Amino acid sequence: MPEAPPPLAAPWQREMQAAIRSLEGLLAALGLTPDDVAVSPSAAAQFPVLVTPTMLARMRPGDPRDPLLLQFLPRHEESLPQPPGFGTDPVAEAGMLRGEGLLQKYAGRLLAVTTGACAVHCRYCFRRHFPYGEQHAGAGQWQELLALLREDASLEELILSGGDPLMLTNRRLAALLKPLAQLNTVRRLRIHSRLPVVLPSRIDRGLLELLGEAAQDVVVVVHVNHARELDTEAEAALARLRARGALLLNQAVLLRGINDTVDAQAELWRRLGGAGVLAYYLHLLDPVSGAAHFEVDETRARALIAALRAQLPGYLVPRLARETPGEASKTVLA
Ligand SMILES: *Cc1c(COP(=O)(O)O)cnc(C)c1O
Ligand code: SF4
Repeated sequence: MPEAPPPLAAPWQREMQAAIRSLEGLLAALGLTPDDVAVSPSAAAQFPVLVTPTMLARMRPGDPRDPLLLQFLPRHEESLPQPPGFGTDPVAEAGMLRGEGLLQKYAGRLLAVTTGACAVHCRYCFRRHFPYGEQHAGAGQWQELLALLREDASLEELILSGGDPLMLTNRRLAALLKPLAQLNTVRRLRIHSRLPVVLPSRIDRGLLELLGEAAQDVVVVVHVNHARELDTEAEAALARLRARGALLLNQAVLLRGINDTVDAQAELWRRLGGAGVLAYYLHLLDPVSGAAHFEVDETRARALIAALRAQLPGYLVPRLARETPGEASKTVLA
């Protein structure tokens, strides 16, 4: 008897197989050479390049200053000595574990690092040095996570984080969401994901059905830093989520040379609003080693928010936030 063929990969998984995974590949795809932009092969060796075809298609060929490219390009600045205060665990996560990959820093909210995988590698990522191999909650098939939620009724929100939780297959997610439906102490399910925008095909029918059946209110917090990330494909994926009743919020990171002007910020939040996404946080950079060249100082950040407030409705102005280890919440600065 012939062997059964392997199950077909979902379209989003096939798109991931076509992702750019090298510095040379990224430069070549955009018609750039190492003479156009000073890159760091050693940084690329330590935290590999990863860009989806969808995201690549939004970048301007031949433009080494493209604000989308700069989020993913290992530049030579990553290898320079970092200022004091920049380290590998910038927000002190190591001391906050309640189980494997389970972090509780704030009352009522449990954050599960479900996977180390992402669809893109952002150079400023505060978890770029996180020991994912040792710490993620998905490996144990969710038992530990579900047990913790069952025994601690104060945990009324489960935040799926990563990596990117939507890199898990629908089957893996179903194995969590089905038993979660029995837990009426958990009222909100929050998903922190870049995928609706960087890999819109991930918002497929199976996922939408799962979210539609969830017993909890579903909140999807996307991560968009620049208006040009939002094309019609991304907007359609966001609309599919919204049609399933998900509340959509955006958190961005304030990044020098990428989105640190009033115009870039106003355009970003306006465009998000048009896609049904409300403003949540604008994060000041976490001081992660290798990302110092992205830092914008707090005074300029506050001025940006004041300028945004003068031109946008309040619900499209993000809270400027910084994470200070040991505080009861993120610190809202403006
Ligand atoms: C940011 C974060 C949260 C969520 O905080 P909100 O202010 O509710 O968005 C929860 N847990 C951890 C560990 C976090 O880092
Ligand atoms: S966790 Fe988020 S910010 Fe970090 S690399 Fe993945 S997608 Fe980017």
